Amino acid sequence: MIEPTQKIWHNGKFINWEDAKVHVMTHALHYGTSVFEGIRCYSTPSGGAIFRPKEHIRRFFDSAKIYRMDEIGFDQKTIVEALGELVRINELSACYLRPILFRGYGDVGVLSVNNPIEVFIVCWEWGKYLGPEAIEKGVDVCVSSWTRLAPNTLPAMAKVAANYMNSQLMKMEAITNGYSEGIALDASGYVSEGSGENIFLVRDNKIYTPPLGTSVLPGITRATAIQLAADCGLELVEQSIPREWLYIADELFFTGTAAEITPIRSVDRIKIGSGKRGPVTKQLQQEFTAILTCATEDRHGWLNFVGTPKHITV
Ligand code: PMP
Repeated sequence: MIEPTQKIWHNGKFINWEDAKVHVMTHALHYGTSVFEGIRCYSTPSGGAIFRPKEHIRRFFDSAKIYRMDEIGFDQKTIVEALGELVRINELSACYLRPILFRGYGDVGVLSVNNPIEVFIVCWEWGKYLGPEAIEKGVDVCVSSWTRLAPNTLPAMAKVAANYMNSQLMKMEAITNGYSEGIALDASGYVSEGSGENIFLVRDNKIYTPPLGTSVLPGITRATAIQLAADCGLELVEQSIPREWLYIADELFFTGTAAEITPIRSVDRIKIGSGKRGPVTKQLQQEFTAILTCATEDRHGWLNFVGTPKHITV
């Protein structure tokens, strides 16, 4: 159960947690018309810092635009600022932020374009997604029997609720069979992504990740890992990855806001490399953590400090 916080941002106003309710006839509940983001705020020696909020909110608007739902009456800057204000008003530092917009109450029907678009931002305290040990020891995963969204069906580049029905099938199958996560192949049979993570492979010190054309979400952590690899002088290629390459990789790791950089130690019970976190994964994790803890300069401007709590009347 998530721990309620005091306030939730709704269409430009702060409301009480208990009041953030929707009617059962909300369009999104019936037809999946919901767009969302998952963002982390880290606790640093200089206070709470939201990780890459501009990039997340850009993707939020991109997702909405794909579904012609981006006319929401707020610009990206306002939403980015609201993230910081919400963390401040709830007096949190380390937390997870969930901006969500969806088609609300009104008509019933597949295309109810007159129903209002509601925008909410919620934040709450949150721990490690794949368990606290996963970051060091790695996770055991399987290749899913479910295929990731085929091109020209549901757009994989949009982070929308409907896509997560496919993710749920993958995750359910994985957990039922004793794995932490599933990796889906795309409609052509090449490696795509996890149910909520992008994937990277290391072989002979070279890093590989599936390109955007393989039904993957353009992950913010994926972009972060690509930048950090470049910073470390590591070679990285975006290319299609055949399934069997997973089994013979030296290292595999997931990236995601929730999963951060999580090593994969086995796939379909086949040990990956030494079966432990590999050196490249460890180096990227260390680079990532150094920025998040302000141990190194935030050279790419990824941290957005929320500042001290301000008194906000609502
Ligand atoms: N793929 C999917 C399907 C996801 O749900 C997520 C999590 N948002 C990711 C990849 C990773 O994206 P990000 O690094 O932006 O969290």
